[in-house]
Amino acid sequence: MGVQSRPDELGGSPLRRLDTSVMHPARRYNYWLGGKDNFAADRESAEQIASVYPAVRTAARENRAFLRRAVRFLVEEAGVRQFLDVGTGIPSADNTHEVAQALAPEARIVYVDNDPMVLVHARALLTSSSAGATAYLDADLRDPTGILEHPDLREMLDLDRPVALMLIAVVHFMSDEDRPYDLVARLLDALPSGSYLAMTHFTADLLPREVVERSAAAVAAGHYKPDGTARSRAEVGRFVAGLDLVEPGIVPVAEWRPEVPAEQRPARADASIYGLVARKP
Ligand code: SAH
Repeated sequence: MGVQSRPDELGGSPLRRLDTSVMHPARRYNYWLGGKDNFAADRESAEQIASVYPAVRTAARENRAFLRRAVRFLVEEAGVRQFLDVGTGIPSADNTHEVAQALAPEARIVYVDNDPMVLVHARALLTSSSAGATAYLDADLRDPTGILEHPDLREMLDLDRPVALMLIAVVHFMSDEDRPYDLVARLLDALPSGSYLAMTHFTADLLPREVVERSAAAVAAGHYKPDGTARSRAEVGRFVAGLDLVEPGIVPVAEWRPEVPAEQRPARADASIYGLVARKP
């Protein structure tokens, strides 16, 4: 099966929900990655953060590079052929299905994002190999039941066989009130033994003190309102309670199974994001 559903059939009219005057994380991240699918409000927020944390573009690129390495590991070493990629982002180079299907054309990928801009671009995610399949769900991580019971997910993924849940740079958009640990646990509960979680999460642990101080001052001065929640290594570790961490565990993204020698990798402070892959026993 190739293309599963056409984006213009999904979720009514995304354009009605597309408010370009308000910053959206997907478009801001696209700007940091050098993409063109962003608007003034996104660029303004991106530059505000870059003025406090100049390395943010490096961090975004390293996060994206982790995604590639993690998908490759999951296909080649873990033998996974089904992916549930929540918080997909605006299509970019090396989307999950492209990396996975280059190695295993039969791989099946369900993408989920709640940003109408991602929905508008979903066609680029539905370019499946003919042996595999991809689908896109316009849905919210805060509603795991809505994701898990979606008919397109049920049609696409066999939940009796291992699935890799990809939560790449999305859980830090969940505040504690969103009960992020419950959200992740509910998704994992639906997946069988032998499934995997691949996750990245922004942290302040690796940031230089002056960045933390500049950020606190900018927030106090009302220059920007944080829209994410940094979590410590221990807090990130709670997401994998009951899972078996794959080596090297919870590490700065650039240090997770790197493909380049240490001297070619950015300083820890320049990509202050934890990455991990863990297996459900
Ligand atoms: N996973 C991609 C993109 C990360 S950007 C990568 O790492 O390269 C974060 C994405 O999460 C954005 O596309 C944003 O729209 C999405 N997102 C944020 N909150 C979400 C939510 N509650 N439900 C679904 N997607 C969400």
